[in-house]
Amino acid sequence: EQLAGHLPTGLKGLDEALFGGIPFGVITELVGPAGIGKTQFCLKLSLLASLPMRHGGLDGQVIYIDMESKFSSKRLIEIGAQSFPEIFHMRGMAQEMAGRILVLRPVSLAEFTESLQQIKILLLERRVKLLVIDSMAALASGEFEHGASKINPLGWHISFLKSVAELSRIPIVVTNQVRSQSNDDTWRYNFQVGTRRQDLEDTPKYDSHLIAALGIHWSHAVTIRLILETISGERFIKVAKSPMSPALAFPFSITSSGISL
Ligand code: ATP
Ligand code: MG
Repeated sequence: EQLAGHLPTGLKGLDEALFGGIPFGVITELVGPAGIGKTQFCLKLSLLASLPMRHGGLDGQVIYIDMESKFSSKRLIEIGAQSFPEIFHMRGMAQEMAGRILVLRPVSLAEFTESLQQIKILLLERRVKLLVIDSMAALASGEFEHGASKINPLGWHISFLKSVAELSRIPIVVTNQVRSQSNDDTWRYNFQVGTRRQDLEDTPKYDSHLIAALGIHWSHAVTIRLILETISGERFIKVAKSPMSPALAFPFSITSSGISL
């Protein structure tokens, strides 16, 4: 797969493992339990996509589909002010940066479909450098419960997102919540911190959880999967699926300045 570029995450080890960051042109999935930091990660990425290039950003706009009303521009500005004080202390810059992030809040599958239609136009009109969907799992539960026998109602959306990534060459980042695997050592310890490991024994296990919610079609549409979880009280981000990186895990923390390694 030919990749048109990367959005650096600012997490050094992770960026190295991903050969520069979140790749353009494909879907990257952030998976993990409630409260682990998926939304915090998306806020940081949104900032990095919108920052001026001289500060390591992509100088672009962001479309943020906020399915659970968890986007917070206040928190975004806090992360920005702490991480990039030289920009955020300039008059009007915090507002300008926040203004580059267009937040859409669909409340039903029909509205989500509409949001995706809207994206087609936004991509033509704006210099979009990142599309975030936080979260996709929200669509698979609640209003849209569907048993194994029924057709996945998200099939069209998944194909659409994949084609948006490919045609517009932007990174698409999607979060999904999974239950924590607190009593399952196989799931938790297959990844070695900062070291190479060949087999990905826990990936099928993860798949079976998410396939139940979003279907195998989704699982195949994702090019990079990053799993966030806590091990012995410490937060880790793991490269669980990637066409070019080994299975690596990096410890991270969340502070007032956002996600950091
Ligand atoms: P969910 O699946 O419920 O959406 P999530 O993975 O998106 O969860 P986040 O909302 O990204 O989780 O992360 C929440 C965590 O971020 C909190 O538990 C807290 O530890 C941390 N956090 C949030 N704001 C701050 C802050 N200002 N300073 C330090 N830590 C913070
Ligand atoms: Mg969240």
